[in-house]
Amino acid sequence: MFVGDYQARPVLNFLSNMVETEVRRDIRKLSLDELTEFFVTHGERPFRAKQVYEWLWKKSAKDFDEMTNLSLVVRELLKDHFVINFIRVDQMQRSADGTIKNAVKLHDGLVVESVLIPTEKRITACVSSQVGCSLACRFCATARLKRMRNLNPDEIYDQVAAIQQQSELFFGRPLTNIVFMGMGEPLLNYANVMSAIEKITSPQGLNMASKRLTVSTVGIAKMIVKMADEGVKFNLAVSLHSALNHVRSSIMPINDTNSLEELAEALKYWYKKTRKKVTYEYVVWKDLNDTREHAEALLNFCKHVPCKVNLIEYNPIDDGEFQQASEAALDMYMDLLERHGITTRIRKSRGKDIDAACGQLANKNN
Ligand code: SAH
Repeated sequence: MFVGDYQARPVLNFLSNMVETEVRRDIRKLSLDELTEFFVTHGERPFRAKQVYEWLWKKSAKDFDEMTNLSLVVRELLKDHFVINFIRVDQMQRSADGTIKNAVKLHDGLVVESVLIPTEKRITACVSSQVGCSLACRFCATARLKRMRNLNPDEIYDQVAAIQQQSELFFGRPLTNIVFMGMGEPLLNYANVMSAIEKITSPQGLNMASKRLTVSTVGIAKMIVKMADEGVKFNLAVSLHSALNHVRSSIMPINDTNSLEELAEALKYWYKKTRKKVTYEYVVWKDLNDTREHAEALLNFCKHVPCKVNLIEYNPIDDGEFQQASEAALDMYMDLLERHGITTRIRKSRGKDIDAACGQLANKNN
């Protein structure tokens, strides 16, 4: 091959990039033990690993030169062997109600979205767990993007770290809550989501309280059982939307293979193990689930385990196939549930003007 040839150059660049990425590993793929081993093999003191780990997972360092308690020699050693693949907030949109939506570019160029939701008392980060989603819920905009891949633990962590910075910068207050209600189904990316949560909640990481973190799921029964067995400390929200199998299956195909009965058994197990109330997310749609029969079915489902219900406002995503139910229908649900001692809240949407509300995340502007 003639190296001066203009056609050869891109090939050579490509090859040298490949060699480089092969040699320089993503440092955040290493556990603390692996980092320790690295330093020992390179003749450095083992405690360096702990220092680096804290820079990565506690102080969210994006560059080895930020690690100022390491000597230049150690920093160079790290640069020779590793890279930090931090996500980039590519586009930030602010809603009239203060909500911020981030379009986040991953190192391979794919994009996900995450949202900062401010209220008087809280600042909540809503994060994505997958690029796209495989679940095909008929009312959700993310379902229209096919699932491209799972997010890595560091990519989930970075969304939180970025929102933590925005929270201080724009609101002068710390981030208080985290919800896995962005793109994707967290329980179909189980290992990476659990690893990210560990980094977000551990004292060696962001040290956020587990009780302020909520994983929201369509309700994959066997994964709920697995979480319960692992003794997790965060909250569980289940996107229920109907407590009648035929109705739920018609809007959420997952219900065909994961029925309400299986879900209920898993939730009973969850409660037995964790003693944590479950939150049901539920949209009331016109002519779909807005009658008393549906509300009574929900009430019956609520008897399985201690729970609360969030009636979520519907965010239209398209041609009007689904429509928000009337105020009267919502009141009917509220009255029935509250009368039977079930805490029920109506959750108004935030960030609708920038397509940042539940079910609207669809990389529209990218
Ligand atoms: N896959 C997870 C998390 C993502 S969706 C889950 O299903 O829970 C977060 C919440 O938004 C879910 O309760 C989902 O059912 C709801 N949602 C999806 N599309 C919506 C829409 N268009 N309007 C209102 N809520 C929606």
